[in-house]
Amino acid sequence: MSYPDTHLLINGQWLNARDGKTLAVVNPANGLEIGRVAHAGRSDLDNALLASQSGFEVWSQFTAIERSKLMRKAASLLRERVDFIAPILTQEQGKPLAEAIAELMAAVDVIEWMADESIRLYGRIIPSRNLSVRQMVIKEPVGPVAAFTPWNFPVIQIVRKLSAALATGCSIVIKGPEEAPASPAALVQTFIDAGIPNGVIGLIYGNPSEISSYLISHPIIRKVTFTGSTVVGKQLAALAGSHMKRVTMELGGHAPVIVCDDADMETAVKAMVAAKYRNAGQVCISPSRFYVQKKIADRYLSEFTQAALDIKVGDGLMGDTKMGPLANPRRLEAMEVLVNDALATGANLLAGGSRIGEKGNYFQPTVIANAGVKARLMNEEPFGPVAAFQTFEKLDDVIREANRLPFGLSSYAFTSTLKNAHQLAQNLKVGMLWVNQAAAAFPEIPFGGVNDSGYGSEGGFEALEAYLVNKSVSIANI
Ligand code: NAD
Repeated sequence: MSYPDTHLLINGQWLNARDGKTLAVVNPANGLEIGRVAHAGRSDLDNALLASQSGFEVWSQFTAIERSKLMRKAASLLRERVDFIAPILTQEQGKPLAEAIAELMAAVDVIEWMADESIRLYGRIIPSRNLSVRQMVIKEPVGPVAAFTPWNFPVIQIVRKLSAALATGCSIVIKGPEEAPASPAALVQTFIDAGIPNGVIGLIYGNPSEISSYLISHPIIRKVTFTGSTVVGKQLAALAGSHMKRVTMELGGHAPVIVCDDADMETAVKAMVAAKYRNAGQVCISPSRFYVQKKIADRYLSEFTQAALDIKVGDGLMGDTKMGPLANPRRLEAMEVLVNDALATGANLLAGGSRIGEKGNYFQPTVIANAGVKARLMNEEPFGPVAAFQTFEKLDDVIREANRLPFGLSSYAFTSTLKNAHQLAQNLKVGMLWVNQAAAAFPEIPFGGVNDSGYGSEGGFEALEAYLVNKSVSIANI
């Protein structure tokens, strides 16, 4: 199966790095190099920044309707190209083809929703204290944006930022994931083919920390948006703060799943097994800490474990694969460390726990029971196919335990009692709660976390607000 090399998109042109430097792209299913990605140097970054400034001057003068039409056109092109782009995404990232297709279709949905929303970015008229004065608030694009996106969802992570920037009249320089660069390039090509002017979108790859420190400090950039780990997010937010730049930070989580004894068992097992092992658990909202009420714990754990054992692991391009390899060897090592630590601190292994074979980054769908609060697995985001279980007796206690960590991104609960659902909704310190369902992160729903999970939203009208500044204008009629 073919896989393209990836170049830098600067001022509407796909270019090699000025110094010709490239990085290898490796297929996580077999460890083989499948292509190269251009590695930007300082002069490439300078060119991308200048292009972004001129792109902003052009794009911010487009009317909302014109912007919306071009975005809709890009969405249509992306829909037409799903079958071409999905195998590229699977080869570089590992997820099963069906998940790659779902990611691309979700991206179409986001672009269309943001395009529609872009024509409803109203300012407001404020009643004045003097009838000869008109007071208004005008919404303006913040300016050129620097976006940093990770490898777990190479397309949708870019689309949420790119669509919000374009919808509001901003230009954007995206530092995409070096490990999965070609599906982002194919995505961006749809915007070029739709007619987005040169410079409005830049796509670059290289050394993440060198690029972020240069772009964030640069006076052309007016907003920073990052998806990735909390550790890196804090560094980037601090740098952005020192330059007084707006930020959106979508960081790590460690999502609690609370299964009450009145839950619908079939729904609670089916929804959470699918959510846990989707993208091999490399999802910021992946369910990861399971708390099951004592009365039903044995049954839930046994049904969950059986379903985990039934998952077919393999190359994402094979039709019957339900879970692909981990995206990179770092995750394999992290899984081994977390599982061994949990077992050493008294937990029991019910399924999986080991690497599969020597070729490719395959890890077994893993279930661990009786994970103690001291186990690293109950404190650090696993970001892999490992589900850790504890039991609880009282809802108050489990809410306290769920809130114990500094993370607050997603959470899940299963109960048939309205009282429980309200209690959870009121007391869990999270950005998102899904009751009796897996996450359905539609573009119209705010998507983001609290505390160490970040700041701001990548869904709903809040996502667009983050790219706008308010200008108050008062005009006296003399
Ligand atoms: P990492 O922290 O090194 O990198 C995470 C992402 O941030 C990568 O895309 C990387 O290129 C980027 N990055 C790293 N340092 C950067 C910097 N100084 N400037 C700009 N970008 C930078 O870790 P990793 O091994 O790639 O991923 C593991 C951890 O990252 C996971 O445990 C998870 O917490 C987090 N992560 C989160 C998401 C998410 O969707 N929130 C996605 C990917 C990774």
